[in-house]
Amino acid sequence: MTDVKKLVEEYGDQIIKNRRYLHAHPELSFQETNTAAWIRDHLTKAGIELMPGITGNSTVGFLKGSQPGPSIGLRADFDALGLTETNDLPYKSTNPGVMHACGHDAHASILMAVAETLARHRELVRGTVYFVFEQGEEFLPGGAQQLVKDGIMDHIDYMFAIHVNASAPLGQIDIHDGVRFAAVGTYDFKIRGKGGHGGFPHKANNPIFAASELVNDIALIPALKCDPLANCTVSVSYLHCGVEGVANVIPETVSMGGCVRVLDTDLRQSVMEEIERLGNSICAAHQCEVKTTMVYGYPACKNDASCVSIMQDAAGAIGITVIDCPPSLGAEDFGYFSEQKPAAVAWFGMGDPTGTHELTPHHNPKFYLYDEKGLPLALEYMLSVYLKAANTL
Ligand SMILES: [Zn+2]
Ligand SMILES: [Zn+2]
Repeated sequence: MTDVKKLVEEYGDQIIKNRRYLHAHPELSFQETNTAAWIRDHLTKAGIELMPGITGNSTVGFLKGSQPGPSIGLRADFDALGLTETNDLPYKSTNPGVMHACGHDAHASILMAVAETLARHRELVRGTVYFVFEQGEEFLPGGAQQLVKDGIMDHIDYMFAIHVNASAPLGQIDIHDGVRFAAVGTYDFKIRGKGGHGGFPHKANNPIFAASELVNDIALIPALKCDPLANCTVSVSYLHCGVEGVANVIPETVSMGGCVRVLDTDLRQSVMEEIERLGNSICAAHQCEVKTTMVYGYPACKNDASCVSIMQDAAGAIGITVIDCPPSLGAEDFGYFSEQKPAAVAWFGMGDPTGTHELTPHHNPKFYLYDEKGLPLALEYMLSVYLKAANTL
């Protein structure tokens, strides 16, 4: 049995220093050039080969073991968000208006620690381990899709990841066997009627009436077009028309749009097609022109049973409480990987269990991770997950 705790001790507080360095230097999705350079530099110095053909800021390192075994991918994203940190911490963001408020700085430092530890202890690697550093998770189209197009899932048999959770205390993970997050899509309609004078509606063609019909019919899709046992929501998120306070002008155009979230990727397809069909037919009935933009975002994120049981067992073995969290209509582009190969992602509690710092939501200017205890435990956990997977899959 490998003494994982000893490996964590050997790595020391570098994991905390690395996370705090990344936290102080956040970069927006798809603009993470300095972070990518930091990752490549660290991997190279550790003697880890970089996979050729990976585009953008995403970076994949790999280590081959001397013994046969599975090809296992471990994934970390590393982009930050456009908000201003209000924490007063010595390592707070130094990039105005940009903040690591989802913990992707922690993901990168944890995966780097796993990579550097395994590079020093290659005897622990069976088969090949891939360290997948993914750009742009927060922003459509997401970095995972491009990594799949670049062919990484042709090499990787199983993929694992954790996402830190600042809203849950350290010492617990939640993981769900099956679909965990929704498939997402967005729609946008630019509707054109004919503007005119409020006193002569018959000489104009008011596009607001097409839009208002669309609002109602789109909202009815989950009730009328989806199995009542399916999980689907369709939002109307914006509707812009006319000029505030100008009552005697019939507007020429309306723009409206919103999003679709559904736990079944195939159902998303039919819901999106129905929205498009309604846009075309209702606008045609009102003799309006419509320009429609439908964007298919992340697919549903589905955890594989065998990967889930590895992540559950690894947690239990080091005293982490495992919670089964029901699916939600949030989204995670890890779904692009789990569409291809068995994969699982767990939510790793990293809030302060002592109560000194409040548990914070993600994407919040006060987002806080209890990193001094949390990161070493996360390293212990991910090493345990890897070793369990490499020895059993
Ligand atoms: Zn996020
Ligand atoms: Zn995130």
